[in-house]
Amino acid sequence: MFTSVPSFRALTILKCSNHHTFIRTSMAAPPQTIATPPPTMAAPPPTTAMDASSSPSMEDHNHGRSYISLREWQNWGTDSPFPTQVAEIVEEMIASETQSDTQMKFGGLGGKLKGDFKTQEDKKHRAKYKALDDSEQKLHFFSARQIACRLLGSRGYLCQKCWLPLEDCMCSRVVPCNLWHRIRFWLYMHPKDFLRQNNTGKLLWQVFGINAAKLCLFGIAEHEEIMWKAFMDSGRNNVWCLYPNKNTPIKSVEEIFAEYISNNLHFEPNQINAGETFNFILLDGTWSNSAAMFRRLKERADLLWGDDLPCISLATGASAMHKLRPQPSWDRTCTAGAAVALLDELHFVSQFNSFGLDKQAEAVENSVDVLLTSLTGRRLRMGRSITRRQRHHSDIC
Ligand SMILES: [Zn+2]
Repeated sequence: MFTSVPSFRALTILKCSNHHTFIRTSMAAPPQTIATPPPTMAAPPPTTAMDASSSPSMEDHNHGRSYISLREWQNWGTDSPFPTQVAEIVEEMIASETQSDTQMKFGGLGGKLKGDFKTQEDKKHRAKYKALDDSEQKLHFFSARQIACRLLGSRGYLCQKCWLPLEDCMCSRVVPCNLWHRIRFWLYMHPKDFLRQNNTGKLLWQVFGINAAKLCLFGIAEHEEIMWKAFMDSGRNNVWCLYPNKNTPIKSVEEIFAEYISNNLHFEPNQINAGETFNFILLDGTWSNSAAMFRRLKERADLLWGDDLPCISLATGASAMHKLRPQPSWDRTCTAGAAVALLDELHFVSQFNSFGLDKQAEAVENSVDVLLTSLTGRRLRMGRSITRRQRHHSDIC
């Protein structure tokens, strides 16, 4: 029979929360001007449509700033093509810099645009956004713009794997682990969480790899198509969103998985097909952003299956990382914490207890500890206060 999930895991996750609190957005990175791409970001051979125009002479003309290649894009944690609209905005911004006397400058968390160039671009982008009359187009533009700014602003400043400033790179302390081959996580991430240092969703692919934990950026058409194609292949019965859907009865992990016949779970990786992959969607954004993201998923599920998006509720609760958020995230569980809780709860369903899910949960939990330690160390080293502060909402980038 089933055993209940012991509380030690939740307690372990909570252990740091009494000691550390953080500022989310005001952890200002040193202002940076990226006049030339740093040596580590040396442009690889042209691989995107835009690269075709990025000849050396073009680069010289562009203050030495190169476009973003497919390889550079994918190094941030995805194997998707470089989204067309993001590429267009990057191209426009570089062209705009070339044509004006103002140089592109970034600073702060999330590689925000700064100075005169920001004023000039914000004006242009607001006008463009306003001119779009379709809400779908507006979302695509908003998301692509956010991603484009973050890509340009984080270049050469953040480590592409752990998304921390290069001098605080934590990669060597993260221990990778294989996720049980029947599970796939989908990190449905809000663009404002993309390349955020204190984001925990990224930890999942740092630990499990980008095939076991897939990044899907909200409002980025290419990413959403890839995700929904996978859901169609797997079928509605194998897709769950970890979110409290108040309009439908939510099932617990035990209620959903208790019915599985254990013989069917022991297929080797090469014996399973898409229909046998368990897809778990983790919403990676603030409370208010997650609500919009959930609505979007729900609408698509309804369109595709004429039915609700199946949801799972977790028995375990808070984690250390909610202190890193500007406001409590959806159920006070950070994204990585939700994955830990899910794996733990699944491990205690008897048919699932021989797949090492407890060890996999522990690997993620350890990576959360590493991230907390790194962020705390950084703040203390910089002599900054470690209290929470309201984030600013005025910037659209
Ligand atoms: Zn790193």
